[in-house]
Amino acid sequence: MVKVVKSTSDLIQERAQETKTIGFVPTMGNLHAGHISLLERALDENEVVYFSIFVNPKQFGPNEDFNKYPRTLEQDIKQIEEIARKYPQKSVMIYAPTDTSEVFPPGYNQTISTTGLSTVLEGAIRPGHFDGVATVVFRLFELVKPQNAYFGLKDYQQYMVICQMVQDLILPIKIVGMPIIRETSGLALSSRNQYLSAEQKEEALILSKTMKKIGALINGKKANLNFAQAEIKNALTDSRWNYLELRDSQTLSMNLGQSSKVTLLGVIQLGSTRLLDNLQMEIQ
Ligand code: AMP
Repeated sequence: MVKVVKSTSDLIQERAQETKTIGFVPTMGNLHAGHISLLERALDENEVVYFSIFVNPKQFGPNEDFNKYPRTLEQDIKQIEEIARKYPQKSVMIYAPTDTSEVFPPGYNQTISTTGLSTVLEGAIRPGHFDGVATVVFRLFELVKPQNAYFGLKDYQQYMVICQMVQDLILPIKIVGMPIIRETSGLALSSRNQYLSAEQKEEALILSKTMKKIGALINGKKANLNFAQAEIKNALTDSRWNYLELRDSQTLSMNLGQSSKVTLLGVIQLGSTRLLDNLQMEIQ
């Protein structure tokens, strides 16, 4: 069963009556197979899934794509209904606030101010972005009060910032990180892929191809990191990269001396579209 609530007062009312285990999937909508993988995992592991669809203005910078971000609610609801049919014993509550003021009422004055992990990579390029993400996720956590919440590792730094917030604020929520879903070409699915022309979509493959190449070069061996760093330097001569960096998977530090897990994180910019990807590796 799928139910849609569009106001926060209705959400609060529904939540107050809930006695079952809740899994939560926060999204900005325009659903693709990446979002659906989160929904399915949440349905596998919980009796009820709360699924939010909200384009959060607080995580967009002044010159970013908040206004043109694709909003496809009717289509999204249909996709969720189709998946929910496969889980007749479970229910899905879609929270799709019609207006920003449903989530952040006029006069709302709180911000989650993140530090550390949120200041590098995406955080360095998009000041305030992770505060915007943490603020909305905290707000949604307070409204939904889930036991489990599902995030894609596609946005690895975001996932880490959320894990840190849950730890620091002692929120009783288990965060589940889900693998990146890709097109057969290797391109990671993203709502922003639709901004790309056919030509740019082809160009976008340098992201996953470079990741794969560097991953193969490292091949699980710490001793190969030097070769990888040389290859990264070489790749970065292409100005389409915003960054391409190897970081410790836990701390996001560039110092990999003690690391057993490393993540290669990269962003390319094609026109005004920025595309993220990453590769997780264990090394010894
Ligand atoms: P968004 O709607 O882009 O804010 O994404 C909502 C959630 O879906 C986030 O936790 C994302 O990391 C996750 N997600 C987005 N794209 C993918 C993907 N290709 N594979 C797995 N998860 C994804």
